[in-house]
Amino acid sequence: MAFKLIDGKKISQEIREELAEEVKGLQQKHNITPGLSVVLVGENPASQVYVRMKNKACTKAGIYSEQHTLDKSISEVELIELVKKLNNDNKIHGILVQLPLPDHINENRVINAISPEKDVDGFHPVSMGRLLIGEKGFLPCTPYGIQKILIKSGVEISGAHVVVVGRSNIVGKPIANILLQKKEGANATVTVCHSRTKNMAEITKQADILIAAIGRPEMITADMIKEGAVVIDVGINRVDDASRERGYRIVGDVKFDEVSEKCSAITPVPGGVGPMTIAMLLYNTVQSAKNTIS
Ligand code: NDP
Repeated sequence: MAFKLIDGKKISQEIREELAEEVKGLQQKHNITPGLSVVLVGENPASQVYVRMKNKACTKAGIYSEQHTLDKSISEVELIELVKKLNNDNKIHGILVQLPLPDHINENRVINAISPEKDVDGFHPVSMGRLLIGEKGFLPCTPYGIQKILIKSGVEISGAHVVVVGRSNIVGKPIANILLQKKEGANATVTVCHSRTKNMAEITKQADILIAAIGRPEMITADMIKEGAVVIDVGINRVDDASRERGYRIVGDVKFDEVSEKCSAITPVPGGVGPMTIAMLLYNTVQSAKNTIS
């Protein structure tokens, strides 16, 4: 079967270009420059890379960005103090605390300290609650990016059976709830699978749209999907590869070569869902700035 490769890089680039135009308009008409503050605790190399990428993307889109790099020994109280200061800083419209945090800091307490009106990561319980009941609020960036990818690729979501594999708070649960909403770009029939699901292949084979957010390299095989399904691969997994100079390669949760033979459209890894996360972070930050215009 001829499949369509969904190019997340291209879609995210389009969104970022649209945002750059919107930022110009906000500056010209309202004298507002959207601002994002990223808080990084410790020296986790992956987190440092993500934060650098976020700052670079902001600059390109004309969004003001600042970074607070804190020593890993900082106390929870001090970190929450900084978050509160940023809550009251008028030039900041979005606050992102890069996770994971060191073990001595309670992540939930820190996330809860972020004002829901600046919660551009969408992880605050108020944002999650708003998502669940269909109220306006910030949607978490990766699941929001998945919805955008589906819409921009012309995939019919309404009435489709979406099967999500994975029930994490950052991907599985929010994407299931986003696509379940009685709204445009949603209205799906949603089933969620996880590690305790029995006969999972019987369920995934019913999916018109299969979303894999598992964190298990190439776990979804061709025999687990329906002919013509749309497959969204969220997984980012490192597997050893001696043929590469760096000694590893990145693969998704889907066995791309065989699944792509059977599906109608699929996101690659890398270059699929990954680039959408930052695009939606910028999108939420611009939205937050727009929310301040009365
Ligand atoms: P988590 O580890 O938090 O959740 C994984 C989920 O998969 C859990 O719900 C778990 O079930 C389920 N699971 C694990 N093993 C199986 C199995 N054998 N059968 C069925 N279900 C299983 O991962 P995340 O949601 O945070 O991330 C998932 C993947 O997506 C990772 O590879 C991550 O790197 C990637 N990711 C990519 C992002 C991006 O593109 N920007 C952003 C975020 C994540 P249970 O709940 O029962 O344990």
